[in-house]
Amino acid sequence: MADPKNKSLSEATRTAASGVNTDPNHGSVMPPLYISTNFSFEEYAKPREYDYTRSGNPTRDLLGQTIASLENGHDAVVTSSGMSALYLMFHLLKPGDVLLAPHDCYGGTFRLLTAMHKKGNFEVRFINQTDKNVLKDAFECIPKMILIETPSNPLLRITDIEYVTSLAKQHDTIVAADNTFLSPILQKPIDMGVDLVMHSTTKYINGHSDVIGGAVVSRTKNLHAEMSWWANATGVGGSPFDSYLTTRGLRTISLRVERQQENAVKIVEFLKNHSAIKNVNYPGLTDHPGHDIVQKQQAGPGAMFSFELNGNEDNIRTFLKALSLYSLCVSLGGVESLICHPATMTHAAYTQEARDNAGISHQLIRISAGIESADDLINDLKQALDIAVK
Ligand SMILES: *Cc1c(COP(=O)(O)O)cnc(C)c1O
Repeated sequence: MADPKNKSLSEATRTAASGVNTDPNHGSVMPPLYISTNFSFEEYAKPREYDYTRSGNPTRDLLGQTIASLENGHDAVVTSSGMSALYLMFHLLKPGDVLLAPHDCYGGTFRLLTAMHKKGNFEVRFINQTDKNVLKDAFECIPKMILIETPSNPLLRITDIEYVTSLAKQHDTIVAADNTFLSPILQKPIDMGVDLVMHSTTKYINGHSDVIGGAVVSRTKNLHAEMSWWANATGVGGSPFDSYLTTRGLRTISLRVERQQENAVKIVEFLKNHSAIKNVNYPGLTDHPGHDIVQKQQAGPGAMFSFELNGNEDNIRTFLKALSLYSLCVSLGGVESLICHPATMTHAAYTQEARDNAGISHQLIRISAGIESADDLINDLKQALDIAVK
């Protein structure tokens, strides 16, 4: 019986065996799916552990505990999406509070923060967090919270997590990290002093592109209690069925991420040496500006990268159309390889000015490497580049 909280076990074991053989009624080896909305009182004034699924559910809790275990956090709240996980964390802010966010954050985060700022929920400042001087100056306003996202999307810029947490400590600032891009297998922000880690579990945690979900992992018991309170009050919790599927996906995360990363390294090597490619953004490259920080804070370079194609809009359209193994879509982290054009897709919610500011050009293309054969993936890119750029 593997307790997901047992840290003496490796991550591969904790995920593969999470909740296995824990059913006292029938000895079902895989943990059952509890879809019931209600759990009865044993008798008058004698509640059981659970009463109502919005407030708590065993299937959802197993997923939360497994994610929290991988992140070395106290516990996690499982939500209906990555956006609701972010929204949940923002309940810690009130009017007048300042939130520092990356100027190149996830497009949906940018949209939500801009809207909440406009409504007066709190004040948001978008800054370049990869620049230590910018960070240091920004902390002078004593922010209530800083949201970090490293590597950033889609340029894979690196923020020094320990530098942020050291500044935050001096100002009593809550540090929240969006760890979606790497997954806990490759980066553990809580070990570096971060207070809250959120995931779009839609990506690497579930890994099969068939569930939208999210999670907020808290470093402390008190923060977790606050997040749980708000999750129950607002009803943003994930559904039991989605939690069940996500736990199932999570069982193979070590294998998936390892293979996806191997594929990314090989594809990047190919693109880097191709004449049609202007530049490649990948934290694994020794000339990447954040490479030293990557060595310090990541267990690996990850499976996401982006590059600029030498060419105009027509070349880009032809290239994307000629591919057969990469679906043109906005998501990432699944077993299948995906390709995306940030300016017209993930970052379409940005204004042109915000895109220019963040350095997202029209030639930029992002890839999420899947678990297919690296040779097949490279050959597909090769033939599409041959057609698109003559
Ligand atoms: C996808 C994503 C989100 C939003 O998650 P959803 O599950 O789509 O709501 C937030 N942050 C990052 C980095 C993401 O990739």
